[in-house]
Amino acid sequence: MTEKAPRKQRLAGVVGWPVSHSLSPLIHSTWAAREGADARYAAIPVEPDDRSFRIRIDELRRSGYRGVNVTIPHKERALRYATTASEDARAAGAANMLTFSEGGVHAENSDIIGLAAALEKLSPRRDALILGAGGAARAVAIALKRRLCAERILIANRTRARAEEVAALVGAAAISWEERSAAAASADIVVNATSLGMTGEAPLDIDIGGMGKDAVVCDIVYSPLETRLLKAARMMGLRAVDGLEMLMRQAVPGYLAWLGDRAEVDADLRARLEAALKARSVDAFGVGGRR
Ligand code: NAP
Repeated sequence: MTEKAPRKQRLAGVVGWPVSHSLSPLIHSTWAAREGADARYAAIPVEPDDRSFRIRIDELRRSGYRGVNVTIPHKERALRYATTASEDARAAGAANMLTFSEGGVHAENSDIIGLAAALEKLSPRRDALILGAGGAARAVAIALKRRLCAERILIANRTRARAEEVAALVGAAAISWEERSAAAASADIVVNATSLGMTGEAPLDIDIGGMGKDAVVCDIVYSPLETRLLKAARMMGLRAVDGLEMLMRQAVPGYLAWLGDRAEVDADLRARLEAALKARSVDAFGVGGRR
């Protein structure tokens, strides 16, 4: 009788600096457990310089990793490292997903895919207002323009020159930060892609009282989950989309490319992530069981 060769465990991970806070290992391990996949997804700290990034990614490729997600501060570096890239990744100038093969390394930007998937059923196809002009705002702008076919996009950012750069990417218009509340009144969708509202940051100050009753408000910040912006939207009866909806969906392409065959975004996955965020905030305030 011939012996079966041991099946090789599938390996993937997320690289960033810092990376210990990442929820990606929980998302991937939940999917792997569901289908009994022999897979491991690790959080891999990589120091924020080109040399460290190249050395570590080279090592991961040699040790059989199938690919990695890439988070702050390595997303632009990841695109430079890759040998090929999707149109989305090239347009954004950044990648959050590298897939390894014998032929090279392919870069993708699944933040764009994730945001588009989170919003597609809400059909925000007309006037959009994006707050922010960092890496996430680029992904949001490309998702709204290319995948959700928004007709008119306005971008407001504290540093106007950066808003103009992002606007030029997608044929949008930059407005000043002070104009954000007035612009919200005529928008069908507002997306917060700044870091304002995040735990430890100042809250986002915007008046959305003028938005129409069918409008959509999306905050890609997910810690806390219910930001002041989303609370205001819900109180007005508007449709509110939080950052977990994007986060869960950006993980799907990586899981399917590297680890398994089924990556369902559902209430169970969301509940697990909410519990992890809650445990973290309890711990941060020093009243959790571990302190
Ligand atoms: P980033 O590149 O550092 O950009 C930060 C943005 O916030 C910039 O537009 C910055 O404006 C603005 N900002 C920061 N402090 C401000 C202040 N005091 N007043 C006004 N504007 C301020 O960060 P990023 O990578 O784009 O990430 C932004 C947020 O998106 C983070 O909270 C991140 O966690 C979240 N995110 C979520 C997902 C998801 O899957 N849900 C994915 C990616 C990112 P200036 O240009 O003027 O500095």
